[in-house]
Amino acid sequence: MSFTSLGLSAPILKAITEQGYDTPSPIQAQAIPAVLAGDDVMAAAQTGTGKTAGFTLPILELLSKGQSAKANQARALILTPTRELAAQISESVENYGKNLSLKSTVVFGGVKINPQMTRLRGGVDILVATPGRLLDLYQQRAVNFKQLEILVLDEADRMLDMGFLRDIKKILAVLPKQRQNLLFSATFSPDIRELAKGLVNNPVEISVSPKNTTAETVEQLVYPVDKNKKAPLLIHLIKTHNWQQVIVFMKTKHGANKLTKQLEAQGINAAAIHGNKSQGARTKALANFKDGTVNVLVATDIAARGLDIDQLPQVVNFELPNVPEDYVHRIGRTGRAGASGQAVSLVCADEIDLLNDVQHVIQTHLDREIVEGFTPVHPLPESRKLKPLKSGKPKKTKSAKFDHKDGQRSGDNARGHKPTGKNRRHTGNTSNNNSANKPGGNRRRVNNSATK
Ligand code: AMP
Repeated sequence: MSFTSLGLSAPILKAITEQGYDTPSPIQAQAIPAVLAGDDVMAAAQTGTGKTAGFTLPILELLSKGQSAKANQARALILTPTRELAAQISESVENYGKNLSLKSTVVFGGVKINPQMTRLRGGVDILVATPGRLLDLYQQRAVNFKQLEILVLDEADRMLDMGFLRDIKKILAVLPKQRQNLLFSATFSPDIRELAKGLVNNPVEISVSPKNTTAETVEQLVYPVDKNKKAPLLIHLIKTHNWQQVIVFMKTKHGANKLTKQLEAQGINAAAIHGNKSQGARTKALANFKDGTVNVLVATDIAARGLDIDQLPQVVNFELPNVPEDYVHRIGRTGRAGASGQAVSLVCADEIDLLNDVQHVIQTHLDREIVEGFTPVHPLPESRKLKPLKSGKPKKTKSAKFDHKDGQRSGDNARGHKPTGKNRRHTGNTSNNNSANKPGGNRRRVNNSATK
């Protein structure tokens, strides 16, 4: 299939070609015709599937036909949980819409509100926003929705995880009833279905399994290692493999800062990205990482969520996440758009429960390898036997902690959002993808088959 058969007009097709895309991804092939037909859409798709173009392209097409936005009005509203994601979507809107005369802008917290008010004054066709800042702007009468035609909730599950439900409901209450609704979420948990009930009307349901995209192309591996040897092991891996672009995940901002310093002390160009960093510092770190000035980006989960980094070859879980589904999100950024990638986890004995939780969610035992010179003094216990996932029921994660400040700041400015603690759900759809890990170098394999 090609983009030309999807019903998009020449200026948009030209922009797509200039982006270098020749074939629509599965979500695009399904979502674009449905949105163009004016249907509501409910799509289960993660970052990396091409979902952004899946909703942006048909929205541009639809809006290019109607009347342009009047003062302080927005014709399409794209709500998204984090600043980074908002900025990236806005960039995509601009890229795909560059041959059209539509106006778009992006608003999020943590930066001055006045320039955003100014940009909204003349009206915009597409407004990309995080919920808290959008409400502030609405309350200050900087934006109005009388002309709103289309609403997109992107990464809806994450918005609920981050405590945005109340804000979303407040926003929905001020939108015109007659509109087209597009709901994108990594999974359809019961909470998302509940939200959808009051939102979408007889929607076209689309589900694309990451199996077809990221997961199958991502090699996953566990390096058992003592806690105090993790930083030296990471430095060893970076240097021996000459990793040029690696994202390292940490649980805390403090940990991210500390590791960044340790890497820099070893002559490795590293930058931290987390909620305590100013927007400017985060944007700069990401730009430097993309252009290769920075080789290692040390990130917390919320700050890194949804970052669009093309074809990232290497992800390192320096610590396993408390919320096992975050593992899936983390590795979702390797092997984008068909490229292959590797995700390695440095796991110490204390983390065996977290490892078991991850393996349960992905329904796979990860292969283990011990790197020569880093044999742990405290061996990593054997994995728990896998039990099947119970579908549909959100799992309560006993150890689930939410980095409140990080989530809040990266999602929006301080508005007192409370993490719900709910909706920690199984993604369950990355299944059985990683039996083919390829050990390399002179690392010793450890057999964990006893656990299978
Ligand atoms: P997304 O899931 O929207 O974050 O997109 C993931 C990545 O895939 C982005 O870097 C897009 O630029 C890229 N992408 C989106 N659609 C296509 C396509 N049809 N062909 C190749 N790459 C694409």
